[in-house]
Amino acid sequence: MPLFTALIVTFYFVVSLGAAAAPVDQNAGAQVIDRSIKPGDDFYRYANGGWLRTGVIPSGQQSFDTRAILAEKTSQRVRDLIQDAAAAQPVNGSIAQKVGDYYASFMDKDGIEAKGLSPLADEMARISAITNKASLSAYLGATLNTEVDGLTANADHIFGVWVNQSFEDSEHYVFHLLQGGLGMPDRDSYLDPSPKMAALRAQYQAHIAAILKLADIANSETMAARILSLEIRIAQAHAPDADAADVFKQNNPWKRADFSVKAPGMDWDAYFTAAGVAGQSEFIVWQPSAVTGTSALVGSEDIDLWKDYLRFHLIEHAASVLPKAVAAEDFDFYGTILSGTQQAPEHSKAAIAATNAALGQAVGQLYTQRYFPPEAKAKAQDMVRDLITAYRARISNLTWMSPQTKEKALAKLAALKIGVGYPDKWIDYSTLDVMRGDAFGNMRRAEAFNRSYNLAKLRQPVDPGEWRIDPQIVGAVIVFTPNTETFSAGLLQPPFFDFQGAAASNYGSAGAGIAHEISHSFDELGNIYDAQGRLGMWWTAEDVAKYHAAAAKLVAQFDGYCPLPDLCVNGKQVLGENIADLAGLLTAHDAYVLSLKGKTDVVIDGLTGEQRFFLAFAQRWRKTQSEAALRKQIATDTHSPGEYRSDTVRNVEAWYKAYEITPGDRLFLKPDDRVGIW
Ligand SMILES: [Zn+2]
Repeated sequence: MPLFTALIVTFYFVVSLGAAAAPVDQNAGAQVIDRSIKPGDDFYRYANGGWLRTGVIPSGQQSFDTRAILAEKTSQRVRDLIQDAAAAQPVNGSIAQKVGDYYASFMDKDGIEAKGLSPLADEMARISAITNKASLSAYLGATLNTEVDGLTANADHIFGVWVNQSFEDSEHYVFHLLQGGLGMPDRDSYLDPSPKMAALRAQYQAHIAAILKLADIANSETMAARILSLEIRIAQAHAPDADAADVFKQNNPWKRADFSVKAPGMDWDAYFTAAGVAGQSEFIVWQPSAVTGTSALVGSEDIDLWKDYLRFHLIEHAASVLPKAVAAEDFDFYGTILSGTQQAPEHSKAAIAATNAALGQAVGQLYTQRYFPPEAKAKAQDMVRDLITAYRARISNLTWMSPQTKEKALAKLAALKIGVGYPDKWIDYSTLDVMRGDAFGNMRRAEAFNRSYNLAKLRQPVDPGEWRIDPQIVGAVIVFTPNTETFSAGLLQPPFFDFQGAAASNYGSAGAGIAHEISHSFDELGNIYDAQGRLGMWWTAEDVAKYHAAAAKLVAQFDGYCPLPDLCVNGKQVLGENIADLAGLLTAHDAYVLSLKGKTDVVIDGLTGEQRFFLAFAQRWRKTQSEAALRKQIATDTHSPGEYRSDTVRNVEAWYKAYEITPGDRLFLKPDDRVGIW
């Protein structure tokens, strides 16, 4: 099982079908119900029939769902906000000025073309000035990349640093050092002997040569071969993928003095001083082999080879803000050869992505000012409170979990920090200068800003309120260290969540999604992190055994789902996510009942509150996809196809009542066959 310190989660949504007359349940799309189907025979097609008939897969894609619709709608809003800021000439120094000028400078192709490669001159001179191991180490330290996190497999420079709490001490931020330095995606790209990967390496070498040639660097062909050979040696030192993602193998505390003993080669004094962390004493080295191996290469390889490697990566790193010949060569390799994308996206898309990457929370402020008011945040917080209350009761009543483990689970739940919409405290960008007409300078200053922002945390107490996802991104992040989860404003929007809409569908849709994620902090993903996010198993062996016994029926239930005569779901492969779906649905239903405070919900569009709750749940999962995509999902994904996720309702007593399901209905399960677990 992969063990992550963080999970990036993307949700599925119901499509917006805003009705005009009050009372309104914006989320529960009664309009797409197919009333020719009995809810008890096929709840997914009953709930989504009208949508499934019209949901056409866009050409060139393999699937279409409401998540895709929402992502498109949100990116359109972000585009408008950024372009408005660029056109409006806002007050100098304001958030809008920085966002607008960053975008406008990136879009100014003529200005970028006119400058040629001259913006690189200063840094090229710094590379040329490297004469020995100390100055090489200092340059490598000065360019240390802090824009990595627990999910980064290969940092953009030879190492990346993630400033985060340690695996054992939840009070202090420490310096997590991660492997990096490869121009291709991972270790296997360099070491896999198959003809396909050998051909890819040849194409990468040609790409290195082409980039060097564009910068008028002599002997580009020879140099490219040598740079590739250096990267192959770096890759040989990288940890294999499975080890790189295993937290127990990542947790290697090093003291400052350990570096010269365990990883000779680099001048570590020069390196850490240039990185601005000369006084740092505590480190966690995630992949010791990479630090040892790369440091040895700093000691053993020709300084001139390192300088060529650095020149190539400098140009490559800045390709998006350099003349079009460089950007085109960059796309040719990374877009077409590596990712199979034939046509470069519109330049404005790249400009928006770059603005988001540099000024994420600045764009987030503009976004939430317009689309996610404080009332929305308050409403989402109320729902989260109900979900936590409901989950607390569920944990207390578990029969498979031992009393001592329950105590730990309840302590972890009490400590869990859930953020919704946007951060309580925004990043202050006042010290970041963004100047119109200076795309390269803006990029470098934003990188320097983010780097000092991250390194400054080393001197501060751990802040569980820190956001790892921008509000304008449609998604959520679970972080196990520290014990936090965040759900963005982009995610909490109609029809998934409507702060002015009806509780039934908010709880059935967004509520069940949030509760699904909460459950991951307590299941087999989260059971190795305690209330403070420290590493250590808190379930007993007996808890594990009983949990698996309780889950066996759910495996069998999903093994029985076969969308094609020769294709059935693999119940074991999707078990963890199915348990989370079930936990999410049960908890969200309890929370919905709590929110009613003893009252009966109103009838809307002929549907009771209970009916609308389950309808919204089933509508989250609507999706059309090609047979190839379905086969791939069943073969590789840990999530079941949406239709079967919707069938989670079969295990929930309240669904039987809401829709008067009887033993003659196809989806009916005998009470003994229904699964609870959480
Ligand atoms: Zn999940």
